[in-house]
Amino acid sequence: MSVRTRFAPSPTGYLHVGGARTALFSWLFAKRSQGTFILRIEDTDRERSTQESIDAILQGMAWLGLEYDEGPIYQTERFDRYQEVIEQLLHDGHAYRCFCSKERLAALREQQLSAKQKPKYDGHCLKYPPEDRDVPHVIRFNNPKSGSVRINDRIRGTIEVANDQLDDLIIARSDGTPTYNLTVVVDDWDMGITHVIRGDDHINNTPRQINILQALNAPVPEYAHVPMILGGDGARLSKRHGAVSVMQYREQGILPKALLNYLVRLGWSHGDQEIFSLDEMCALFSLEECNKSPSSFNHEKLLWLNQHYLSHSPLTEVLPELEWHLSRAGLNISDGPDLDTLLQVQKERHNTLVSLVEESRPFYQEFDEYDSKAAKKHLRSVALEPLTHLKTKLEDLTDWSRESLHHCVQLTAEELNIGMGKVGQPLRVALTGMSASPSIDLTLELLGQETTLSRIQRALDYIQARQQSNSN
Ligand code: GLU
Repeated sequence: MSVRTRFAPSPTGYLHVGGARTALFSWLFAKRSQGTFILRIEDTDRERSTQESIDAILQGMAWLGLEYDEGPIYQTERFDRYQEVIEQLLHDGHAYRCFCSKERLAALREQQLSAKQKPKYDGHCLKYPPEDRDVPHVIRFNNPKSGSVRINDRIRGTIEVANDQLDDLIIARSDGTPTYNLTVVVDDWDMGITHVIRGDDHINNTPRQINILQALNAPVPEYAHVPMILGGDGARLSKRHGAVSVMQYREQGILPKALLNYLVRLGWSHGDQEIFSLDEMCALFSLEECNKSPSSFNHEKLLWLNQHYLSHSPLTEVLPELEWHLSRAGLNISDGPDLDTLLQVQKERHNTLVSLVEESRPFYQEFDEYDSKAAKKHLRSVALEPLTHLKTKLEDLTDWSRESLHHCVQLTAEELNIGMGKVGQPLRVALTGMSASPSIDLTLELLGQETTLSRIQRALDYIQARQQSNSN
């Protein structure tokens, strides 16, 4: 039997990290078994589904590299088929029309609640089929009234639910549109899904779906319910914990491979291994090694993984992301060092592409002003002499290489009989406006002679102006 899995998001928002993890698990399970991974867009709720959200889901999947073998299949294009199945269920006595008014249902609910019973439809229209078929009505599934349903969940183990605990759920609304449990069942059946891997918020739907599948004589897939993701405070991960949309992580400078590696470990483990290449994940992933209990999101760990991927990934993988971030930061790539060089210099120093790009800004653009703390500390009168001394040396330098630049800085310190830091720190602030940058010789090399000289002059002017205003 060849494995077929699916990811079935409802397009009512962005691609949430929880959704992305479910997609990843389904994708890995399919890859591991040389199976097929299908994307199904569950857009039957027309009021809440938007094209924007469909686009966001497709974009997030593409960015993560979760390619699907079939799809996207849209449920709104399959209404005829759902109708056909509803007719079949009605015909076979597995479904019935229910004409009960809202008022009757509300009264029934009230009565059951006050008798401390679980609210549930009482089967009135099944027992007393009404005559009139032209008035608005819903269609209910005729759930088996005795026995039980067993789910052999690949993560949670065996779950057994008594049928008398299950309602005769509505499978078509009064406007004729099918409901979630019906469409999922028809789709899983028609698409030949062998393994349903999804969030455990659907676990209560599973026995109902199995009953409908059985009523249709359709094969029952295997189920694996993935526990939810919690924020650091133990509550379900939500916007208030920070970024939850996959594309927000991109905006924060996370690499797709780092996020995938992070997500795979969120609820799955293989010994104490933390770093998994995609090939390794595909080869090793198993549902049995998934956690039964919820996992907590840990932003520090994501940053740690991102640092790893920034410094260890082949340049070709990081470059498209770096380009995206530079242009997002309004920087023109042709105004600064080539990206290979930039990445080589900066990759060990940052755990996100955002901080990498921010620190690289002075290589592409004149900075507006000095960081005030850095200027206060390093652009002082004592810096005038070393900066002037060095500037003269750099003006005459013909070989603008890291080695000769290093030599010039060192010589300046020696000749003035001061420590290297007394030259290097004011120089760094003069060149970048900040007190953090790659090593000083690399910074000089990347900036080039012209920019270096004009920025040293700018710092000299700044110090002198400050001196003057202080003495006034
Ligand atoms: N459309 C459902 C959701 O987004 C998932 C349904 C399923 O996986 O069965 O929560």
